[in-house]
Amino acid sequence: MEQQSFDNRAGKIWYDGEFEEWKDSKIHILNHGLHYGSSVFEGIRVYDSQAFKLKEHMERLHASAKYLKFEIPYSVNELVEKALELIKKNNVKNGYMRPIAWRGCETMLIGGNGTKIHTAIAVWESFEIGRVTTRERGINMCISSWRKPSADSSPCHSKAASIYTLATIIKIDAQDAGFDDALMLDSADNITEATTSNFFAIINNELHTPIPDCFLNGITRQTIIQVAKAAGIKVYERHIKVEELKKAEACFLTGTAIEIMPVKKIDNLEFNINHTMILKLSEEFSKLTNLKKAA
Ligand code: PMP
Repeated sequence: MEQQSFDNRAGKIWYDGEFEEWKDSKIHILNHGLHYGSSVFEGIRVYDSQAFKLKEHMERLHASAKYLKFEIPYSVNELVEKALELIKKNNVKNGYMRPIAWRGCETMLIGGNGTKIHTAIAVWESFEIGRVTTRERGINMCISSWRKPSADSSPCHSKAASIYTLATIIKIDAQDAGFDDALMLDSADNITEATTSNFFAIINNELHTPIPDCFLNGITRQTIIQVAKAAGIKVYERHIKVEELKKAEACFLTGTAIEIMPVKKIDNLEFNINHTMILKLSEEFSKLTNLKKAA
């Protein structure tokens, strides 16, 4: 089934304080965000018309903008309120939300001084049939030849659009080589993350995950660590080498969009996608995302 283009959908978009028709939503070509990547965004899941960890995501949007040296002109509470209104207006039950903020058109100079900061939120229904199938078979990964830039070479704790340039290149290379996604290593050969998700390995029935010292400390990652600890599972945040994965029983990725995604293969290493810990964590996570029942 062909995906409907994102500029031609029904519903509203909240843009600089107003709810406008989705199809009429426009920006000018000469905006700083487009030319220099001075834009930050969020990805939020809507479960049963409730946005999961909405405040945390809007707080991260604010923090991301600060890394890029601009201030979002709406408070976290205002963004939360508008996001909730938009879910109702667009009648979204299970979907995905994309808040974004960027520098406007007032200058084309790199410093961006005097640019107006624009803010928008879109939310749409999303069924993800493809992802369910992928979850059942587990994903196949390779190790990318690209390195994750170090914390002093990139605004790596910000969900800045500019950091995704590398993710797009890596994803295309991985898919062209027959894989679903790739893991990036840092300059010391430690595993960092996948293109848009965090990484976990289960070794001796304990959970190991890289220290988020040069990549996004995902909200799902943090939630899974909490859930695991509450279930009595030992969690180690540490540097992990690819070699060590030979000892791993299972591996999985976490992220807002993919939730908990079992990894079937990393290059020639094979893992158990139905490991009891993955099943347990997935079950506990879905209890949390079932917000109406959890309330
Ligand atoms: N790393 C990157 C680069 C991502 O884009 C994402 C998705 N936002 C994650 C990790 C996972 O973060 P979260 O669990 O907050 O969605």
